[in-house]
Amino acid sequence: MKGISMSNNKSIIKRAITSDGSARIVFCDSTSIVRRSCEIHRTSKTMTAALGRALTATSLMGSLLKNKTDSLTLRIDGDGPAGLIVCVGDYKGNVRGYAENPDAELPPNSIGKLDVGGVVGGGTLYVIRDLGMNEPYIGASPIISGEIAEDITEYFASSEQTPTVCALGVRVDRNNIAYAAGGYLLQLMPGADDAIADKLESNVRLMRSVSELIASGEDGDDIISAVFSGIEYEMFDEFDAEYLCSCKREKYLDALSSLGKDDLEDIVKDGKPVEASCRFCGTKYSFSPDEIMNEREKKRA
Ligand SMILES: [Zn+2]
Repeated sequence: MKGISMSNNKSIIKRAITSDGSARIVFCDSTSIVRRSCEIHRTSKTMTAALGRALTATSLMGSLLKNKTDSLTLRIDGDGPAGLIVCVGDYKGNVRGYAENPDAELPPNSIGKLDVGGVVGGGTLYVIRDLGMNEPYIGASPIISGEIAEDITEYFASSEQTPTVCALGVRVDRNNIAYAAGGYLLQLMPGADDAIADKLESNVRLMRSVSELIASGEDGDDIISAVFSGIEYEMFDEFDAEYLCSCKREKYLDALSSLGKDDLEDIVKDGKPVEASCRFCGTKYSFSPDEIMNEREKKRA
């Protein structure tokens, strides 16, 4: 169905595979995710785009995880004014994220666009997959441009040896409302047919930017059919994704009650409630010294 997705509460992920198994694509219209992120973090325009692209990439990569309990963290450790950007996604493409400096802003770049590359800067990108083993799997690659899509493409090429095209885009209006956001990951599978690889490359080269397509009312089906133009393919599945935080009050209480003796004595002496707020969703939690000490007693019992 055509139509601008800004009225939807949920973002949509669609996946498809070429009939011969040479390539797969995962597409996400992440407009609602980016809007929620902007509301929570009160991002500047450029940071709405930077964090929005990072969240979209994380949603796409997360949706490729196999198990319910797996999680994927994208950590963009750049030296630009944005500071550290961290996003976490699950196997359903649900995501949460934050940037160290959500209000960082720069003038438009040389082609008049939001300067995401400048605000991110240079440094290292990490992809951390927690698959429930003792140690998470950590991959890293240098930040190439800071525009994020290129950096993810580079990451897959250099760290995972998987030829990948990553496209990401966030359009922000004058009032800093994200009105079109989304992206896709297109990956060649092992043993992919060269002719299909060439055709995909030329299809992608001819396409307009993904945010421009979404802004003009194209949906996932349209964009997948453009990428796979002239190639037989099958839609694999589709599902909703959203900005979702998993923070729990008990976790904060657990951390507070595990503080050292001196810190706890200070809290009791102070007598005031201790406040904690979640970096991902902004939820504020408050704990009385009594509650913290009771929890400590319970754990020691
Ligand atoms: Zn939270």
